[in-house]
Amino acid sequence: MKVTIDLEKCYRSGECYYSHPEVFQSNDEGEPELAVKDVGTSELRQHAEQAADGCPAQAITVED
Ligand code: SF4
Repeated sequence: MKVTIDLEKCYRSGECYYSHPEVFQSNDEGEPELAVKDVGTSELRQHAEQAADGCPAQAITVED
């Protein structure tokens, strides 16, 4: 499973890392990045999908 953040689309709302800090975090520039290397568990996957649904810029993609 692969989670991608498109920083071209992202407008740094912070919603992903505030709502799902177990999957996302902010880097020093305030850009979101993955907080975990493996999002293979069903719980983390569910949180990544929730973040993708909640991203106002539709910048997060979750793929198998
Ligand atoms: S929720 Fe979307 S727009 Fe907001 S910081 Fe995360 S990826 Fe960027």
